[in-house]
Amino acid sequence: MGWKAWRRIMAMLAMTAAGLAGCAPDQPADLVLTGGNLMTMSPDRPRARALAIRDERLVFVGSEEGARRFIGPETRVVDLGKRVVFPGLVDAHGHLLSLGRSLSELSLTGTQSPAQIRQKVLEKQPSAPPGAWITGRGWDQNGWPGREFPTWRDLEGTEAHPVYLRRVDGHAAWVNRTALDRAGITRDTPDPPGGRLLRDARGEPTGVLLDNAADLVRRIIPEPSRAERLEWARAAIRECHRYGLTGMHDAGVDEATLEILRELRDREELTLRVYAMLDDADSAFVARQFAAGPQVDPWLTVRALKLYADGALGSRGAALLEPYSDDPSTRGLMVQSPDYLYRMTREALAHGFQVCTHAIGDAANRAVLDAYEKALAEVPPGDYRLRIEHCQVIAPDDFPRFGRLGLIASVQPTHATSDMLWAEDRLGPKRIKGAYAWRTLLQSGARLALGSDFPVESPAPLLGIMAAVARRDVMGHPTDGWHPEQRLTGDEAIRGFTVDAAWAGFAEGERGTLEAGKLADLTVMDGNLDLDWDVDLDWMTYAVSDIRVWMTVVGGKVVYEGNNTPSNRRITP
Ligand SMILES: [Zn+2]
Repeated sequence: MGWKAWRRIMAMLAMTAAGLAGCAPDQPADLVLTGGNLMTMSPDRPRARALAIRDERLVFVGSEEGARRFIGPETRVVDLGKRVVFPGLVDAHGHLLSLGRSLSELSLTGTQSPAQIRQKVLEKQPSAPPGAWITGRGWDQNGWPGREFPTWRDLEGTEAHPVYLRRVDGHAAWVNRTALDRAGITRDTPDPPGGRLLRDARGEPTGVLLDNAADLVRRIIPEPSRAERLEWARAAIRECHRYGLTGMHDAGVDEATLEILRELRDREELTLRVYAMLDDADSAFVARQFAAGPQVDPWLTVRALKLYADGALGSRGAALLEPYSDDPSTRGLMVQSPDYLYRMTREALAHGFQVCTHAIGDAANRAVLDAYEKALAEVPPGDYRLRIEHCQVIAPDDFPRFGRLGLIASVQPTHATSDMLWAEDRLGPKRIKGAYAWRTLLQSGARLALGSDFPVESPAPLLGIMAAVARRDVMGHPTDGWHPEQRLTGDEAIRGFTVDAAWAGFAEGERGTLEAGKLADLTVMDGNLDLDWDVDLDWMTYAVSDIRVWMTVVGGKVVYEGNNTPSNRRITP
């Protein structure tokens, strides 16, 4: 919407409010926000100036005058100084405790070489208890000279502690000699199902373990204590609020994690709305949750099952229909059989649970579409909202099936801007056209729920919005956007983090828009944010370095407040 149209609407709103000014004053609100640019995402009133909150709900969204009627002696009134307000932003695919853990371990994101990582390990060692595991996350060989996988030899000198370092996508682990020895991994160790040990020319394991092979080491790392997990969760919740998130969908919750989340909810410390997908690895746990049935709660909802079809593209673990363009010896691998995906989908639907399946490669996506199609044909017609998580590479013939089956494509825009440096090497010029193809997915009739897959990527939803709209990295590369025909508009991107994220979690009746009656979840942005961003890409890149979250409100409570300096906004008539 242009500025002139916006001004016309504001003038109309002012007149409407003037007409209501004679009404009796309403019961006072707890919090009134005035003087903002509210992007409500409600079709009835897309823009507004002010809102009022009583208890946990919005009681008014509209004009300044209208909001004033809710101001009583006890009401906190905040002037937004024309800052932009969104419905509370929700990450539709993240990993809460992993985020907390990643905050507590070695951060390897952006490291430039194996030598730099070895140095970080050496610096950590003096403070680590003798023999304790040193863990880290975030390395990516695609950002190093030569782009080769590292080996245990690159970690020589660190043998005093076992070292376990996960790749940025979590689908590969790099370990040192001590860790290999403790796990008893030798040249005689076979590749486990769904996993692979990288080996040198003589067949010796190199220290990089792909997908399920990482379990050979992971299973001997002592389990974190309950206290540690509680701390991780608390730290992750704070981090989410700081980035403006009011909710998240946790893509793979095990029993221990669910207990932590329940404990935090019962102590009223869960100030982030969590939509939990049960991890299928523990079948007894899943069976117990199925028997208990869906548990819908404003803070913690359990009504979804997470399945995994394949690995990731970066480590060539994604299952492709044809061999990798840069390694014709492999097509990647499925980590579950198509029949298992179908049986579990059937079972989940029978118990009233949604299914969310990780699928990256075109073969994996096809297998999931087949499984969903078969299961949906066997249940009564209904509102099932099956999801595919990532949907990264789709064969051209498969796109229309998303709309036909009423699926939710749960995608992570920052994956595209992180992977764009090497994705075409893996896939070649033809297949890349069906990769990270958000516009094609939308046109096929899928609903897009957007997220970050944190801690794989930053939890900052503004980075995801920018990646979706510009398809450029934070440095503004490439200038015209990577495969710009697949860009989303600003409105579509915000939808993916608000209305459609709510839809993906069956919560659109309570959240996702700023409307009176809904839960008071909202995100206020500071700095230069232009509502006309659809037309100005340069601006998006410039803006993202400048925009901060100013305030995060969940259920009417302010859970994060940045420093309240006067806005230096660029919104000008
Ligand atoms: Zn994930």
